[in-house]
Amino acid sequence: MAEGPAKRVLVTGGAGFLGSHLCDRLIADGCDVLVADNFFSGAKENLAHLAGHPRFELLRHDVTFPLYVEVDEIYNLACPASPIYYQHDPVQTTKTSVHGAINMLGLAKRTGARILQASTSEVYGDPAEHPQTEDYWGNVNPIGVRSCYDEGKRCAETLFFDYRRQHGMPIKVVRIFNTYGPRMRPDDGRVVSNFIMQALRGEDITVYGDGSQTRSFCYVDDLIEALVRTMATPDDVTGPINLGSTGEFTMLELAAAVIELTGSASRLVFAPLPSDDPAQRRPDTTRAETTLGWRATTPLREGLARTVEYFRTAGAL
Ligand code: NAD
Ligand code: UDP
Ligand code: UDP
Repeated sequence: MAEGPAKRVLVTGGAGFLGSHLCDRLIADGCDVLVADNFFSGAKENLAHLAGHPRFELLRHDVTFPLYVEVDEIYNLACPASPIYYQHDPVQTTKTSVHGAINMLGLAKRTGARILQASTSEVYGDPAEHPQTEDYWGNVNPIGVRSCYDEGKRCAETLFFDYRRQHGMPIKVVRIFNTYGPRMRPDDGRVVSNFIMQALRGEDITVYGDGSQTRSFCYVDDLIEALVRTMATPDDVTGPINLGSTGEFTMLELAAAVIELTGSASRLVFAPLPSDDPAQRRPDTTRAETTLGWRATTPLREGLARTVEYFRTAGAL
């Protein structure tokens, strides 16, 4: 029997770290993939290996402007994720989350597409509950330097649920916790890329604060699997669903693991903690386990080793 036409999938922010891995997965799954990206924090090089593929298309487009295309599914990932990038032009960051969500929801409404929003653990702010379940409403500073990102993402969630309530649309909201892996920018300022680049260059490793703050780090392949599974859930599954690893590490533990894996002679130096930096973060992923049958399985050391290998060989040095 002849196969039907390929599913048409739009990935906004597809030239970024997570987006480019998602595109690889969707192409491998036989989808027809359209990326819309303004290359603010992403790069065409992340998708260079897909150029010329008959089911792949790359469009330079800013999601704060309307987009008229015909698609079956939308993954809305467009938004810089690293504090350095999202604080560079904070007004644009909020516009990207809010206007971007409105435009993509409008597009989903017109086409009848399913739409998934890449939200973030930052909606919990500096959490007063630990670990964080989806029922926790968060502890976010509305006027601080991280607010452009945190409040933008919170408003995007509001828009998704209001489009659902008003128009009955098939929405999916996932709250992504710190994710790392190959194709992170060496200069993007996030802790995993910073520590690895510093270790490989033999530079001092910059620990902010006393290094006792915690994060849970999810390897990119695990996260992509969860995104695809979420999109495939029945229409009544809206989330929000926490996606992340449940292993919790201090930044001092992360630095020690990076030094050991790279065999670096780098030493730790301590720098001031950025304002509103959450003291601890770890997801409760019970909902992901029951709804998606998913949990992050890649051990931190294994994922770090693959990421170190990428930064060693990708010309990042
Ligand atoms: P990234 O910065 O590598 O990718 C974001 C992509 O969006 C980039 O290619 C960038 O050029 C593009 N973009 C930014 N503004 C845009 C705009 N106005 N129009 C079109 N494209 C635009 O970041 P990432 O780590 O791949 O994150 C992807 C998504 O996942 C983001 O929405 C982020 O908030 C979310 N997220 C990521 C993490 C993580 O740890 N990586 C954690 C929580 C949430
Ligand atoms: N939109 C878009 N592509 C579409 C349909 C809509 O970019 O295919 C944008 C358009 O800019 C619109 C927004 O999505 O303002 C919200 O659309 P909706 O239909 O929800 O509301 P409208 O503003 O059209 O009343
Ligand atoms: N961090 C650090 N050194 C760095 C970069 C970040 O100690 O060179 C810390 C940062 O203060 C935070 C944690 O690492 O406590 C995670 O930072 P990242 O920017 O990667 O993610 P987020 O704060 O958004 O979770």
